[in-house]
Amino acid sequence: MAEVKLKNLTVKYGEVVAVNNVSLTFEDKKFTVMLGPSGCGKTSTLRSIAGLTRPASGEIYIGERLVNDLYPSERNVAMVFQSYALYPHMNVFDNLAFCLKPLKLTRSEIKEKVNQISQTLHLEEFLNRYPAELSSGQQQRVAIGRALIRRPAVLLLDEPLSQLDAVLREEMKVYIKKLQEELAITTIHVTHDQTEAQAMGDRIVVMDLGVIQQIGTPQEVYNNPVNLFVAGFIGNPSMNLISGELSREEGKFFLVSKEVKIPIPPKLGKKLEKGNITGEIVLGIRPEHIFLFPEAIQDSVEAEIIEVLPQNNEFIIDLSCDSFSFKVRKDKEVLGFHPQVGQKSWFTLNEEKTYFFDKETTRRIELP
Ligand code: ADP
Ligand code: MG
Repeated sequence: MAEVKLKNLTVKYGEVVAVNNVSLTFEDKKFTVMLGPSGCGKTSTLRSIAGLTRPASGEIYIGERLVNDLYPSERNVAMVFQSYALYPHMNVFDNLAFCLKPLKLTRSEIKEKVNQISQTLHLEEFLNRYPAELSSGQQQRVAIGRALIRRPAVLLLDEPLSQLDAVLREEMKVYIKKLQEELAITTIHVTHDQTEAQAMGDRIVVMDLGVIQQIGTPQEVYNNPVNLFVAGFIGNPSMNLISGELSREEGKFFLVSKEVKIPIPPKLGKKLEKGNITGEIVLGIRPEHIFLFPEAIQDSVEAEIIEVLPQNNEFIIDLSCDSFSFKVRKDKEVLGFHPQVGQKSWFTLNEEKTYFFDKETTRRIELP
């Protein structure tokens, strides 16, 4: 097994910089998720590690070995593509066995290895079927089986769940995670879906525009986003972001934007004062961290309920204050009233969970 280390990796397609000077280590035997929007450079990074794309500059190490000049087959890495890429004219057995060809094994050795991997992936019953005779979930297990049959040191998964329907996706999330733990294989799993990243990753690498934005555990990137991009990208529904000017009236702080004037909770106001934070900033608050009341309370702001989306045990509520709209997410039992479209309600911010960001640099402002 092996860690994967990238040093100043840059990938270009003509003038397009797909990966921009990325340095990071994917830890040995860990499940790392690379998360970012479409086009941010995830596939280019994976293909560079696999040896399918030649970087413009930078170094790639697998374990101790510098692999830049090695062929894909010499890197001891396997990649599962978004499209699965199974051979349609071969049955499952042959699809799995095909990857063993270069090893020049005997028939019985091949049979043993195929049987072993098909047991791990629960494919024993399907060995005689062709890809077209399999469900998408089964096809995907064959694709993973093919990647694993040679026991690579590193497994690269490029959006492996994106082709599956919602129920199967949930199943495969658990399945892939368990398989990775069982086999203790260094795994890099790429996705644009932050829910998937939160559920699966030991660590998450958040990327945007070819650049790493943040690396952390699922909790770290959720609780302590380093900048506006990560804050907005992680969490569903997204964090509410309100741009405005901090103002002070009679000892109280407010965030004043064109649309709305929000009182800052007193404890937070004190911290802003202590940190000497003034001027234009962006306030961030997750939908689950807004308190909502059916009547006015001290320092609350009036808003109108525009939309109510019941979801299992919670409500996602769209509110608007003049032209400013935002979302609140509440446990039905915690909320304590039944929200109705058109109804007035009053909100306050959870002072422990309110974030501030620098408007220029987009970085989160650390409060004292
Ligand atoms: P992701 O996997 O995160 O969606 P990619 O690594 O596929 O991102 O792409 C990163 C950027 O590089 C995008 O702007 C994409 O359009 C561009 N790109 C990817 N592959 C090629 C290619 N073969 N030729 C030209 N541009 C490419
Ligand atoms: Mg991709």
